[in-house]
Amino acid sequence: MSPRELLHRSLWLAPLALSLVFVLGVLAWVRANEADEQEQQRQTLISDALSTEAQLRDRIADEQRHLRQLAEDLVGQAPGEAALAAQAELNGGLRRLWQSVTWLDARNRVLAEVSGRGDDGRLDDGLSLHLTAPVGNEGTLVVRYPPALLLKRGVPWWLARKYDVQLVDSADQVIASSTESPLRAAQAPRPSYRVALTGPLRASPLTQEALTDAALELTVRDPVANGVRPLAWVLVAGFLPLIAVASWLLRRQMRQLQRAEVAGRTEAAWRRAMEDSALVALRARDFDGRLLYVNRTFCDMVGLPAERLVGLLPPMPYWPPDAFEEMSARNRRNLAGQAPREGYEARWQHSSGRMVDVMVFESPLVDAAGRQIGWMGSIIDITGAKRLEERERRQVETLAHNARLTMLGEVASTLAHELNQPLTAIASYGAGISNSLAKLGVQDELVLGALQRLGQQAAHAGRIVARIREFLTRREPRHEPCDLNEVIRAALDLLRREAQQREITLELALSPHVPSVLADAVLIEQVVINLVRNAADALLARDRDQGGRRIAVSSHLAGDFVRIDVRDNGPGLAGRRIEQLCAPFYSTKSDGMGMGLAICRSIVEAHQGVLDASEAAGGGALFSFSLPLNREHHRESVHA
Ligand code: ADP
Repeated sequence: MSPRELLHRSLWLAPLALSLVFVLGVLAWVRANEADEQEQQRQTLISDALSTEAQLRDRIADEQRHLRQLAEDLVGQAPGEAALAAQAELNGGLRRLWQSVTWLDARNRVLAEVSGRGDDGRLDDGLSLHLTAPVGNEGTLVVRYPPALLLKRGVPWWLARKYDVQLVDSADQVIASSTESPLRAAQAPRPSYRVALTGPLRASPLTQEALTDAALELTVRDPVANGVRPLAWVLVAGFLPLIAVASWLLRRQMRQLQRAEVAGRTEAAWRRAMEDSALVALRARDFDGRLLYVNRTFCDMVGLPAERLVGLLPPMPYWPPDAFEEMSARNRRNLAGQAPREGYEARWQHSSGRMVDVMVFESPLVDAAGRQIGWMGSIIDITGAKRLEERERRQVETLAHNARLTMLGEVASTLAHELNQPLTAIASYGAGISNSLAKLGVQDELVLGALQRLGQQAAHAGRIVARIREFLTRREPRHEPCDLNEVIRAALDLLRREAQQREITLELALSPHVPSVLADAVLIEQVVINLVRNAADALLARDRDQGGRRIAVSSHLAGDFVRIDVRDNGPGLAGRRIEQLCAPFYSTKSDGMGMGLAICRSIVEAHQGVLDASEAAGGGALFSFSLPLNREHHRESVHA
């Protein structure tokens, strides 16, 4: 298979490949988009973390301010729980975030302590952080607060929804979380960000643990999916089988199309070959007679190329100029659909001027939908057949003419022969009577004159007959070397059709060793024809069912003669001898003249030959004639 053909055959893969490229493109695009979104989420995360930390710091700063106010209010008051509890700032602080407020003296001894419960009723069960503020010069106020509550109160709701906010210490332990059950980043890898605590948030707890390395961690609750989104996967998973099925269908369709194309091309090639190799010329015409198509045979027949013929309207260039009227009349008839079904003969003119006899058959030309769109003509060149027919006809005519001439000569010669005697007798009787009258002394001029004229007339009649005979048989047999086998073949060729009509089988058994003889071929042919015709006539009496009618003609060398036998399986001669059969005017046929065999015999004898007839072995008649060999010639050929 050539690369080009291969390409053509795998063309159906193109949509599939393109679809795959498309799908991969889409996936890559989605992936890139996702990375983008992730990056964006990360940016937001960072800024959100920073802002959360700032807000918490603000919150603590606020608390610190309240604490300082409280401390200022306590300056100069007697230390004690009552004084502390009476402060409005203290109660506000306890309602907000504070867990407890402790008043320490300069030596860090507790002067008073007020603790409250948070709104959620939670006691200081976890880690606490603290804030401090000096009370004048003689003490310190310490506030404890739970970092979890700070996160809850200090982180805006919209950030709390987006993130898990946690305080994490340096050992990665969660100190406080904004949610009850925080999902750790480790459980599902989620983007998170840590911000180191600054300012008052860095305060250390009352216990010894240092919070200096603690950090605020924000973890995204709902991360942008990593990896291509499920929807994209579903679409791809649906799309690929669809496109695969579509490709398969396409491939099938293409295969079918290719097969159809190949079949079409083959058919076209076959049709072309058939049209071009056909002996029949073809032409298609529309209803106006315009030539739509001609095949090569047609072009050869009229000697014009297809380019010059197709598209032409009548009159056609191949119409003989002297038959224009007739041709156009016939053309009109054919286009009207009245062409004879069995075809018609026409005479066209080849571009070289030569005449072409054709037989034309017209049939309707139909299109693919079955509608008739014109006429299709099939044309056969019958010039050769016509010429042959003409020659045969002329040959038969000549033969008949010759036969008539021969017969006339024979009749005349027979008549002359037959009449000569009576005429001579009349003349002798005349002479005898006038002699007798002279002896008797009869001097009657009248009678003597009449007798003399009688003799003269008889002699005249004899001369006339002789002259007619001489005239009719003036053609002396021309003795020329001739091949008798050839002569027989030519004679039988002329009789073949007749024999066929009568259902007679002609059998030929010609010896190849028959030398040529000196003879008149035309006359010998007459003899053969005559004998075969007689046999055929005799066979007519024979019933067809009795094993068929047969005539066998054979030639062979018999001593110094060439002998030719004509045998039939007819009724035979019924004991009649050759003399009887050859008698002039002897015939047993109702329309017979009885001269055939007589002529044969005289022709054969004119060639120093012999004609004979006998009963054939196995029934039927056997007529044979022998002609002497051309001795000189024969001797020469023998010596040679
Ligand atoms: P015609 O053919 O006019 O009768 P012919 O001289 O050719 O005259 O034949 C004379 C007769 O000889 C025929 O009428 C026929 O009775 C007889 N005859 C000739 N050939 C045959 C034959 N092959 N078989 C039987 N009879 C024959």
